[in-house]
Amino acid sequence: MQRNDFIAVNEPLLDGNERQYLLQCIDSGWISSEGPFVSQFEAAMSARANRRWGVAVCNGTAALDAAIEALGIGPEDEVIMPAFTIISCIGQIIRSGARPVLVDSDPLSWNMAVERIEEKITPRTRAIMMVHIYGLPVDVDAVMDIARRHDLCVLEDAAEMHGQTYRGRPCGSFGDLSTFSFYPNKLVTTGEGGMIVTDDDALAQSCRSLRNLCFQPQARFVHERLGWNLRMTNLQAALGMAQLERLDEFTARKRAMGRRYTQLFAGRAGLQLPLARTDYADNVYWVYGLVLDESVQLDAAEAMRRLAARGIGCRPFFCPMHQQPVLRARGLFSGESYPVAERLYRKGFYIPSGLALTEPQMERVAEAVRDVLQ
Ligand SMILES: *Cc1c(COP(=O)(O)O)cnc(C)c1O
Repeated sequence: MQRNDFIAVNEPLLDGNERQYLLQCIDSGWISSEGPFVSQFEAAMSARANRRWGVAVCNGTAALDAAIEALGIGPEDEVIMPAFTIISCIGQIIRSGARPVLVDSDPLSWNMAVERIEEKITPRTRAIMMVHIYGLPVDVDAVMDIARRHDLCVLEDAAEMHGQTYRGRPCGSFGDLSTFSFYPNKLVTTGEGGMIVTDDDALAQSCRSLRNLCFQPQARFVHERLGWNLRMTNLQAALGMAQLERLDEFTARKRAMGRRYTQLFAGRAGLQLPLARTDYADNVYWVYGLVLDESVQLDAAEAMRRLAARGIGCRPFFCPMHQQPVLRARGLFSGESYPVAERLYRKGFYIPSGLALTEPQMERVAEAVRDVLQ
């Protein structure tokens, strides 16, 4: 039922060297994970994140799974993570037998409320998962300080943060391991794809092995450990190289779009807009989120229905982990409440934010939001 003038929530920009590099793959016959673009893309992404190693995988969820396994997290362990995030963050923590421990969100940045982390630390805490949400980084130094004092690992999920910095240092450069996603709505896309970056030789080696079924160099089909096939293809990495060449242009474009939306919504009652900046970063507006005030009768679901009827594609905010039926059914998080995350889910959604979005489209989106709120 998609109308011609429907504004999709995301449309990527693929008008650089994507076509040329893909044709190189086809003409050379290098289409599998063995092709040369994979190691080039690993080197370029890890350099961009100030990391020694990059391990390309098939998606951002796989990157998180491999990272959790590589850190050796398992039964007896607790991992502190935000309540307000994507399900990808929690899957392997649970499958490993470890216990996820949730922290509520900051009402303005929507990131994990760093000042609530320490109260969650127990003798079993092994790691903190730091997930940067929607365009602003977590207060990294505060998390690293807690981790240092309590001797905890830090895993950084930078899936939404390509090209973003924290106090001038790149997102993806913090903690033991960082992960990226290259899904089409991310700032660099490979269609599907992900990467783990790290400075730690052993962790990088472990991720490499886990990605490739833990085949062994000497006795290929004899396995000491269970891995997965998480390999990225040369075709995906070719796209990634073409995209990465334009990352500075993409982040500038996202920031300009964010500023333009903020202008268009200025003075609108009933709406909370993304913070333009914190004292450690300027918003990169990976997506442009809106949170309806409690005084607004509509919830996000109804607002999105009305916007869809006006040809505007939106997406709900994340459903918090403690409200996930699949996790509640496992007996997790019973009786727990994270009021900020709950409100963000009830009242929050994001509007079209893709790199291909045009000025007239943004004006139409803003007009539709104004109509719906009236
Ligand atoms: C997109 C995303 C992921 C998952 O990446 P996929 O490539 O879709 O598997 C993980 N974490 C965050 C924060 C994301 O935004």
